[in-house]
Amino acid sequence: MQAEILMIGTELLLGQIEDTNATYMARVLADNGINLYQKTTIGDNTERVVDALNAALSRSDVVLCSGGLGPTEDDLTRDCVAEVMGKPLEYHPEIYAHIETMFARSGYTITENNKKQAFAPEGALIVDNPNGTAPGLIVEGEKGIIVCMPGVPHELYAMLDDSVLPFLRERFDLGAVIHYRVLKVCGYGESRVDAAMGDLMSSSENPKIGVLANPAHVRIRISALADTVAEANALIDPVDAAVRERLPGLVMGTDDDTIESVVEALFAERGWTLAVAESSSGGMICQRLLAAGAVCLAGGRVYRLDAAATVDAKEAGLDWARRSMSELSASCGLAVVSDLRNRSTVIVFVCPDGEADWEIAQTRRDERMQLRTSVTALEHVRRFLVN
Ligand code: ATP
Ligand code: MG
Repeated sequence: MQAEILMIGTELLLGQIEDTNATYMARVLADNGINLYQKTTIGDNTERVVDALNAALSRSDVVLCSGGLGPTEDDLTRDCVAEVMGKPLEYHPEIYAHIETMFARSGYTITENNKKQAFAPEGALIVDNPNGTAPGLIVEGEKGIIVCMPGVPHELYAMLDDSVLPFLRERFDLGAVIHYRVLKVCGYGESRVDAAMGDLMSSSENPKIGVLANPAHVRIRISALADTVAEANALIDPVDAAVRERLPGLVMGTDDDTIESVVEALFAERGWTLAVAESSSGGMICQRLLAAGAVCLAGGRVYRLDAAATVDAKEAGLDWARRSMSELSASCGLAVVSDLRNRSTVIVFVCPDGEADWEIAQTRRDERMQLRTSVTALEHVRRFLVN
């Protein structure tokens, strides 16, 4: 079975909105072992949408469309599908009743053009939309299958997961799912992670293990092929445990976790707040915690690189951390001090459970080094709090 995605909307074509639906659809299809052949974006234009649908159906069994199911003039997906499939639109009173209910619930007045959403090509399967007015449509014909979903992201996500995928699984007898879990390691290089688990990687077929690094962390991706997500998880669990055994205490989080979100959660558990004083991390600890919406951050201060040049870096760190804590009335302090003489950085953490310090090499002064330093500092805090 082969599928394509057709994204409909002039706003999308012109880059006025980000196409998060396409990303989501592609990922979900891949996770379910469905072969995605092509992704097309097209403006709100009848002729071009018809052409795109015909072209997609000439290559693939199923076209999954997003957008253009609304009540307005430029919403023309319904008409195009009817034309391509040679199935005239029919009025469905039960869809209109659903639209009326949704309007009554939201307090808006229904308008004449909402009637348009109650039409569907002859013989179409009407897909529930509990989150909005326009139902989805599954239309099967000689050329293949067209699935239409609304453009509003949360409506599309729910429809794809709850109705469209189950339909495709059943219709095409799709046995297998590909499901994966990502374990994340911070402040420990890709080659060291590789070395620690080399034999695990070469010996495993299902699940498969892959290692991928970005500047903030190393991702260990464990992916399994199974009949259901639950069975895939059962295959993944022992490998997850084996990886953690080889990297004791080093797995910072899974899937969507970031070092910032993990540290934020550890602080939230304890009801602590954090004051930050940084030189070699260039303010990035504060920046990253703020961007992650961490409420534990009380505030911070940035020092020039040679601010501690004449004193012992560790002493300076303790002083910076304690001063920031008292200025910001925070329960914890984190200082990142550049030690120019030793080409190193000293990290000092002070919290109600005690104090700790670490030293890391500082080979460069650029943004990448600042990023690595800020992430490593937060990772040391995490390890201190977890152990
Ligand atoms: P509506 O009933 O709201 O008109 P629709 O099915 O006609 O729904 P569109 O009009 O194409 O869908 O899109 C509605 C809104 O959903 C857009 O204004 C946009 O904010 C969002 N949207 C549409 N397509 C996408 C997409 N591919 N990715 C992310 N958001 C999208
Ligand atoms: Mg619309």
